[in-house]
Amino acid sequence: QKFVYDFTEGNKDLKDLLGGKGANLAEMTNLGLPVPPGFTITTDACKVYLDSGSEPPELRDEVSAHLDALEQRMGKKLGQSDNPLLVSVRSGAKFSMPGMMDTVLNIGLSDTSVDGLAAQAGDERFAWDSYRRLIQMFGKTVLGVDGDLFEEALEEAKRAKGASTDLGLDAADLRSLVDAFKQIVLKEAGREFPQEPREQMDLAVRAVFDSWNGERAKLYRRQERIPHDLGTAVNICSMVFGNLGPDSGTGVAFTRDPASGHQGVYGDYLQNAQGEDVVAGIRNTVPLADLEKIDKASYDQLMQIMETLETHYKDLCDIEFTIERGKLWMLQTRVGKRTAAAAFRIATQLVDQGLIDEAEALQRVNGAQLAQLMFPRFDESAQAEQVGRGIAASPGAAVGKAVFDSYTAVKWSRSGEKVILIRRETNPDDLNGMIAAEGILTSRGGKTSHAAVVARGMGKTCVCGAEELEVDTKRRRMTVPGGTVVEEGDVVSIDGSTGKVYLGEVPVVPSPVVEYFEGRMHAGADDADELVKAVHRIMAYADRVRRLRVRANADNAEDAARARRFGAQGIGLCRTEHMFLGERRELVERLILADTDDERASALEALLPLQRQDFVDLFEAMDGLPVTVRLLDPPLHEFLPDITDLSVRVALAESRHEDHENDLRLLQAVHRLHEQNPMLGLRGVRLGLVIPGLFTMQVRAIAEAAAQRLGAGGDPRAEIMIPLVGTVQELEIVRDQAEQVIAEVQQASGTDIKLPLGTMIELPRAALTAGQIAEAAEFFSFGTNDLTQTVWGFSRDDVEASFFTAYLEKGIFGVSPFETIDRDGVGSLVRAAAEAGRATRPDLKLGVCGEHGGDPESVHFFHEVGLDYVSCSPFRIPVARLEAGRAAS
Ligand code: PEP
Ligand code: MG
Repeated sequence: QKFVYDFTEGNKDLKDLLGGKGANLAEMTNLGLPVPPGFTITTDACKVYLDSGSEPPELRDEVSAHLDALEQRMGKKLGQSDNPLLVSVRSGAKFSMPGMMDTVLNIGLSDTSVDGLAAQAGDERFAWDSYRRLIQMFGKTVLGVDGDLFEEALEEAKRAKGASTDLGLDAADLRSLVDAFKQIVLKEAGREFPQEPREQMDLAVRAVFDSWNGERAKLYRRQERIPHDLGTAVNICSMVFGNLGPDSGTGVAFTRDPASGHQGVYGDYLQNAQGEDVVAGIRNTVPLADLEKIDKASYDQLMQIMETLETHYKDLCDIEFTIERGKLWMLQTRVGKRTAAAAFRIATQLVDQGLIDEAEALQRVNGAQLAQLMFPRFDESAQAEQVGRGIAASPGAAVGKAVFDSYTAVKWSRSGEKVILIRRETNPDDLNGMIAAEGILTSRGGKTSHAAVVARGMGKTCVCGAEELEVDTKRRRMTVPGGTVVEEGDVVSIDGSTGKVYLGEVPVVPSPVVEYFEGRMHAGADDADELVKAVHRIMAYADRVRRLRVRANADNAEDAARARRFGAQGIGLCRTEHMFLGERRELVERLILADTDDERASALEALLPLQRQDFVDLFEAMDGLPVTVRLLDPPLHEFLPDITDLSVRVALAESRHEDHENDLRLLQAVHRLHEQNPMLGLRGVRLGLVIPGLFTMQVRAIAEAAAQRLGAGGDPRAEIMIPLVGTVQELEIVRDQAEQVIAEVQQASGTDIKLPLGTMIELPRAALTAGQIAEAAEFFSFGTNDLTQTVWGFSRDDVEASFFTAYLEKGIFGVSPFETIDRDGVGSLVRAAAEAGRATRPDLKLGVCGEHGGDPESVHFFHEVGLDYVSCSPFRIPVARLEAGRAAS
């Protein structure tokens, strides 16, 4: 086993072994690009170290051999006193973990070689500045000294000198600073700063290994679901210096615009500086295009290299480079991050350039990006006063009056005002306010804070952790940088896709991508938006290759029609409970209150024509496509008045001696139906079994509506679905009753209606006995909302607001299992039930209609387990289509 690879030995496909940075440095080296020579210690070596607590015994000799070769090539030795070779030691894992891991520059400097470097560079200040940077970085990351101590000493030196930046310190000042830094190391770390260059290097390598298991790194990996056992590679690279004068500098570049995807010259350059200076923002960078004037030869060479890289990687690359006295060096490249819009544009541009094919283009975009493009956004051309920026926690563009407490949010929104709820941070008490608000803004907390998690769950716009905003909830106001005070009632606008916060009302424009899906913008039109054209092409390809069909969760004709425009191939879940609200609630009350068969029959009779008309409309909107109608599911008390309101009403009426017989009956019914755990109570198929005539009324309405549509020349494809089944016996009873009703309707109407009857699989017992249940079901639709609730024992209505923040912070899961299917638990039940069901009935149709049906990662899982379709809310249909295509290609 080989633990060290020279840059000339690796390539870009060895990311597992060499990490992302090492693999790409090797790739560039082999492309003949100017990479400072160096070598990479593999992740395997790191793994041995992490497992056993010490480096593999062979490592020392291997490193020595590679270091020798490097020294030979460079014509100088590591830390040699008259002409030192200096190296950087950088971490580089397979997945980028920004800011999590360690780097040490200028290894090889010591009390003697600092003079050698000064002579070599002809610049004494530079040499001492490099040395103090080494001690500072080494002290902090390798020896664990508190970094603030160095910063304070640096500040002190500047103060003493009256210098505003460190450029005001001369060689002598820096020499004294080096002494001060060495004292800090001795005092804090209990040892001298090591003068021996190889010892510096070995300790730095070990520190990089150790940083893999730093607390922040571990948390980051848990949240990003990066396995803990990958380890990091370590890159040892000869130093080049961008801080050797005006003919030196450092910069970053993109091969095309990561915001728009357009080709051109994008990047920043900073003259006479080292990498950290750019990040630290000490001085202002200039646009990359200015480099042409500063150093034309390097500029031309860089442009050439960027083209080479893009053609080679067949993708947008980002680059870090340094110019040392007129000589260009490449320090890093990788396939670059980009905005959602740029991802679609770049993918199709690359197809047009012949660099990638359509299958590859499909892999270059994803559903999360498409979803982002579907939110309305602020009009970019509008004048808007940005006053802050936080974390983009939940996308969308929200405008409303500032309110600082939940109570006011609810009160104002009830009177028709749009409000933005502004808090320092939110907690479960803020829930009602969050529901009432257009958007949520907090000044504290990150992507897993309560506000962020709950807002995402609700699909509500949220910006969190906007730290420069001073939120004073007691005085109901917020102070923005510059001192402007936002009072309760002032209008603010927040952008949950960028994290930006504005004063006043910023106009919102609809997403062009939604305009396209709605059919209001045509991709074929000459003036069509470039983005729309790209989305159109990629969607067409996804539709061509996907195997999963995509249906909608919709329960009225309007949603059905929209779903159809968005590409739905039917309705996978029509929740009939939504048809019992509003004015019809009274009829349901009558049904629930019925004491006699006659009363009940008359209530059902009144409901029947209303239900039938609902279905006629729905079947018409989805003519020719399947419509799965689910019989009534929720606990009945949901249709009755709130117990407290009702009690108050009854008590008041009593005290006033008013007639309250009806309310009293209602109250008795509410008490009778009250359950401690309604979600585990009288609901779903259980309702159908204990309330005579309820399900048969619904079945009759469906059958008659289908007959009516047939009579009108339509093509209704209704399917009947029974919720919350736990055992095949339940299904058999309902099935017998339904078949009888259907036969009656057939006879009466003289039509041959086909109504497949199936069940939801949303209880563990149903999944575990799926083989039996399939005897009585023509299709299964996995209700993964209830299935997640019952498998985990998590109340789907409560957990997001109560303890999920803690679970996410502890990394127990990276995302709520109600959002992305829990493959190992819930998912394995789905897989087993699908197999068992098909074993009983090979032509059993399988779908999913829980929220997971529109979640990108979950769609891939449902493809893998061989479902026939996913069903999701109309707005998520394009995302599901795209991901189904990606899963299949
Ligand atoms: C489910 O449980 O996944 C489901 C689709 O049904 P509902 O959300 O209506 O309970
Ligand atoms: Mg359910």
